[in-house]
Amino acid sequence: EGGAVKVVVTGAAGQIGYSILPMICSGHMLGANTHIDLGLLDIPQCEEALRGVVMELQDCSYPLITQIRHGSDPREILRDADIIIFLGGFPRKAGMERKELLQRNCNIFKEQGAALNEVGKQTTLCLVVANPANTNCLILSHFAPNIPRKNFSAMTRLDHNRSMHQIAARAGVHSSAVKNVIIWGNHSSTQYPDVNHGTVNGHPIKQTLNDDAWLHGEFITTVQRRGAAIIEARKLSSAMSAAKAAVDHVRTWVQGTPEGEHVSMAVLSDGSYGIDEGLCYSYPVTCANKEWHVVQGLHIDEFSREKMELTKRELIEERDEALS
Ligand code: NDP
Repeated sequence: EGGAVKVVVTGAAGQIGYSILPMICSGHMLGANTHIDLGLLDIPQCEEALRGVVMELQDCSYPLITQIRHGSDPREILRDADIIIFLGGFPRKAGMERKELLQRNCNIFKEQGAALNEVGKQTTLCLVVANPANTNCLILSHFAPNIPRKNFSAMTRLDHNRSMHQIAARAGVHSSAVKNVIIWGNHSSTQYPDVNHGTVNGHPIKQTLNDDAWLHGEFITTVQRRGAAIIEARKLSSAMSAAKAAVDHVRTWVQGTPEGEHVSMAVLSDGSYGIDEGLCYSYPVTCANKEWHVVQGLHIDEFSREKMELTKRELIEERDEALS
C-alpha cells in the first residue's frame, strides 16, 4: 500500500467541503485500504469555522486518516500534495457582473497557482470545482508552469452524472445502466450534453428512447439548468451531488475507466475535435495509470458541432477576460 496519500481540499470550511470530507475519509475516493494525510485550506476569515470542521473530523476517528493539517497559507498546506481538490472560490452574488466574478476568482487561482508552482510535485493531480471551474483551472495551470499540464482538470462529472440520471429516468432504468454520455465544453449553461455515443443496457440511447425532439431539446436544457433548479428548491447550491461527483472524478482518474467506457473531464486541450489548444474544455476521456486520454475518432454531426463551437466560444471569451 505504501505511505499515506496527501490529499488537500481548499475551501474546506464551505458546504461542498462539509459533504466531501466524510466521503474522502471513509475511503470512497481512494479505496478502503489507502491511508490519507489530509490538508485543509481556507481563507483567514473562515479559519475558525475550519477549526470546527477539524474537531468534527477528529471526533469521527476515521481509521484511514493518519494526519489532519489545516490553515490559510497555500504554501504550507499545498506542499507535496498528491491530490488537490479546489473547492474554494468567490461565490456568485446577486447583481454581480460575470467579469467581476471572473476577476475575483482569477486572483485566487493566480495566487494558488504561484504557491503550487513552488511547493507542488511533478505528480500532483489537481481538480478544480470552484466556478467558473474551467477558466479557474486554466489560470491555475498558467501560474504553475512547473507542474505538467496533464495534471490539471476541472469538474464536469456532475453534469455527466445528471445526464445519466435524465436518460435513465426517461428509459425507466437505473442510472448504472447508462454508459458513455458526454459533456462537451464549459461547466456553464452552454455545456453540451451529448448522447450520440451513449448506451442504455448496451443499446444506443438514441434508438432506445427514439425521441430526438426530447434529446435535442428538453434533455439538454434540463441538464444545463439543473444547478439553478436545485438552488431554487433548496435555496442553496448543490453540494452533496457536487461532492459525490468530485469523488467520482478523482477515483476514475486514479483507478482508471473500465474497458469500453469513458467519462467527462475538462482538461487542457491538445487540439482534439478542433478546440483551441490550451483551452480547458470538457471531453470524453478514458483513464489509465493516473492519466487521461481524450477518446478520439467519434463522429460529430452538424447539431453537435454547432453546440461544441458555442461553448468553445464562451471559454475563449472567459480566458481572454481573465487574462486581460
Ligand atoms: P460551496 O462549497 O457551495 O462551493 C464551492 C465552489 O464550488 C463554488 O465556486 C461553487 O460555485 C462551486 N460549486 C457549487 N456547486 C457546484 C456544482 N453543482 N457544480 C460545480 N461547482 C459547484 O461554497 P461555499 O461558499 O459554501 O464555500 C466556499 C469556501 O471557499 C468558503 O469556506 C470560503 O471561505 C472558501 N474560499 C477559500 C479560498 C481558499 O482556499 N483560498 C478562496 C476563496 C474562498 P458557485 O458559487 O457558482 O455555486
